[in-house]
Amino acid sequence: MTPTTPAATEPTPGVSAWLRLHRAFMPDYNGKATAYWWSVVLLGGFTLFVSLKTLAAAPATAWWQIAAGTAIAMLAGFFPVRIPRSKNSFAAGEVFIFLVLLMHGPAAATLAAAGEAAVSSWRTSRRWTSRIVSPAMAAVAMFAAGSLLQAALGVLQAHGLLSDATLMVVAMGVALLYFALNTVLATAVPLLKRNERLRVSALAGNFGWIGIAFAGSASVAALLFMTYQRSGIGVLMAAAPLLAMLLATLHLFFRQQESDELVRLSRIETSEREAEQAARHVRELEASERRFHSAFTHASIGMTLVSFDGRIVQANLALRTLLGLGVAEPTQRDFSEFVSAEDAALLEQPLARVRAGEIESFAIELRVRQAGGAVVPVAVHCSFFSEPGAAAPCLILQVQDVSARRRAEAGLQHLAFHDSLTGLPNRRRFHQHLVRAIERVGSTPRLQFGVLFLDFDRFKLINDSMGHTVGDDFLVRVARRIQDSVRPGDIVARLGGDEFAILAEDSDCEHYCTHLAERLLDVLRKPFAVAGTEITTSASIGITISTAGYARPEDVLRDADTAMYKAKAAGKARYALFDVGLHAEVSQRVRLEGDLRRALAAGQLSVAYQPLYRLADGQLSGFEALARWNHPELGVISPLTFIPIAEEAGLMVPLSDFVLGRACGRLKEWQRLGAGFAELTMQINISGNDIAHSGFVPRITRAIVEARLQPQHLILELTENILMARLESALPALIELQRLGVGLSVDDFGTGYSSLAHLSSLPIDSLKLDRSFVQKMQVGSKEAAVVRAVVQLGKSLGKSVIAEGIETPSQLDQLRDMGCDVGQGYVLSRPLPAELVTTLLERIAAKTSRGFQNTAFDRPVLFH
Ligand code: C2E
Ligand code: CA
Ligand code: CA
Repeated sequence: MTPTTPAATEPTPGVSAWLRLHRAFMPDYNGKATAYWWSVVLLGGFTLFVSLKTLAAAPATAWWQIAAGTAIAMLAGFFPVRIPRSKNSFAAGEVFIFLVLLMHGPAAATLAAAGEAAVSSWRTSRRWTSRIVSPAMAAVAMFAAGSLLQAALGVLQAHGLLSDATLMVVAMGVALLYFALNTVLATAVPLLKRNERLRVSALAGNFGWIGIAFAGSASVAALLFMTYQRSGIGVLMAAAPLLAMLLATLHLFFRQQESDELVRLSRIETSEREAEQAARHVRELEASERRFHSAFTHASIGMTLVSFDGRIVQANLALRTLLGLGVAEPTQRDFSEFVSAEDAALLEQPLARVRAGEIESFAIELRVRQAGGAVVPVAVHCSFFSEPGAAAPCLILQVQDVSARRRAEAGLQHLAFHDSLTGLPNRRRFHQHLVRAIERVGSTPRLQFGVLFLDFDRFKLINDSMGHTVGDDFLVRVARRIQDSVRPGDIVARLGGDEFAILAEDSDCEHYCTHLAERLLDVLRKPFAVAGTEITTSASIGITISTAGYARPEDVLRDADTAMYKAKAAGKARYALFDVGLHAEVSQRVRLEGDLRRALAAGQLSVAYQPLYRLADGQLSGFEALARWNHPELGVISPLTFIPIAEEAGLMVPLSDFVLGRACGRLKEWQRLGAGFAELTMQINISGNDIAHSGFVPRITRAIVEARLQPQHLILELTENILMARLESALPALIELQRLGVGLSVDDFGTGYSSLAHLSSLPIDSLKLDRSFVQKMQVGSKEAAVVRAVVQLGKSLGKSVIAEGIETPSQLDQLRDMGCDVGQGYVLSRPLPAELVTTLLERIAAKTSRGFQNTAFDRPVLFH
């Protein structure tokens, strides 16, 4: 195995030093360029060496002359004469180089040329490669050219042709040759670096001035040489400094010329730049002016320049259009002419402040009057405007039509203050109207206002049974009818749900309002055609008049509402006027609420029992439990009064529990009194609040369990209205009760909206015909027909029919003849306290035990 020598992988220290040197000084030299450089440098060195050797034997005077010529040439190298308006310069040193050549031959000239080139390249280049190669090139070129001259002069002399003229011509020719050689040698370096070939045409371009200068230098040198030949060295001594001075002057002159030229050029440049800047400025100004002008002219918002005294100086198209002027120029007119009279002051005040310099701008909204008379709301922005060059500052007003925005605002306002369904003012808006009415009446006592409060008697039912769409449709039609019935100035509002209110102002409001109420009752009683069916309804109207003395709108509405409740309580479909007595009623109601709360705890409530009889055989079948309140001060209070109070005060649950517990307990007691009483039943009234209560079924169950009743002996009475209104939510509870065996009776049957389809599917055991039918029942009457129809309906549906409110024997007979199952009413028995029921039952039991056939109604003796 041959071990690898270190030299194979690493350059020897010598080579690496060369390489480093090469990289440092000749990084841009390729192989050829490098070879060329070295060749020229070596050749130059060699030429110098040969020249020095040639001169070695020369006498001292010759040496002095050569040294002086060389020194002058080198010195001149420091002061090149630059040729004006060209990049070229020539060193005047050439004259002396040529002089040395003519006087001492090529070897001496070679030294001078190398010296001059060293100085020139030192001055013009910072690269050592050119500082070294330039003198070498000059030496080679001069040695060659000089040797040729020497040879040529020798030949001329040999043929006797040497004269001043031929010398001059040959000197000039050799100078050109020297120059050409020098140029070729120098040009070769960059060409080799770029790997290009030398082209004669490119070289020729470099001739011209410098060539001529060289030729000129050579001719001067020849002249000096000839003078020297004739007159000796003295002339040269004198001429040389003169020439040096001349050249120095030339140098300085051209330098001065050059710097003057530079100054002139920079002046021209500066002034051109300034002119360009000024032109640009003007152009920019013009553009900005144009931009402003076009922004002003084409702006979509109205713009106007107004002088300080208010006259329009300029107005754009948008403003003219806004003011309805068309093409007419508003110039010179006062801007305030266009502002609507009411808003003139609005504009004048801030304008004065801008004029006074207090503020620079402001924005306001006002109305302008168009040429056609129409008033347009506008937003005005005004600011100080000073135009450069303008005689006086003015104001710039931007005027924008804001009617669209105003309309949108009005729309929003409308939404906020109007009911979206009917488009009528809403409660908030009505309040505002009321506030204003109260103020007006306060300031003008002869004025009066009245408020009608309308509530539809069966709206909830319509909504629940026929759906909300029908309900909405119904309300829209109702609203229209109300609106059509009032005077134009009256305000109709929808307060919510089916509540409407009307505000009327009049000098005799009571008269107007009662008339209006009657008219409305009439109009609203007529059927409404909604969703393919006819809906008949009625309204209850409460009225209050400002003479009651109001300060707050809510008091007005409260009193109208109270009056409306009075109308409802009085039998619906009527109106009631609020009076101070009603106030008492209301406060009484508030008082009763508190009393009832305490009454429940204090045991002031009791239960009365009204017997029910089977009409076919007169047998006692059961009782209806009716709540009683014996108020310590007010005496007996009707359940028609206190049940609604209990419902509103949330007292229904304890009240019902009390009645349930009592009645179930009593029934058990009474069922035990005799063998014939085991099947007696108890009918108990249930309110809407009860079935809405989540614990409803457990409460019923508990009452049954506690009394140890059989569920089928308890029958719950639910009015037809409540049943239908809450059908969906109540149904699960009702089905569960039916499953338990508890009976269900539809109370006040005939007053509600039950559909036959519902009746057959609902868990109902009996229909309790409303007493209004029974009471109006005469042979052949409409009511008699209804009763007969209900009885038949009950039979066909398999449900028993109970008639309540039987007051006369004739009614009793009729009902029995019709086949009505059960009867209840004063003619049979009034509601009895429990003790009297016990007495009654004991009497019946005694009668039965004595063997009497129980043929007809055993009525409580005390009441007949
Ligand atoms: P209602 O359920 O229709 O009860 C029947 C009402 O008719 C009772 O009035 C009764 O005294 C009365 N009445 C009975 N026979 C006749 C008659 O021949 N002629 C006339 N004109 N009236 C007769 P009352 O006791 O004043 O009860 C009024 C209403 O109060 C009841 O009407 C019922 O809806 C409600 N109510 C009574 N007690 C309770 C209760 O404990 N709970 C609930 N939720 N409501 C009750
Ligand atoms: Ca009842
Ligand atoms: Ca009833």
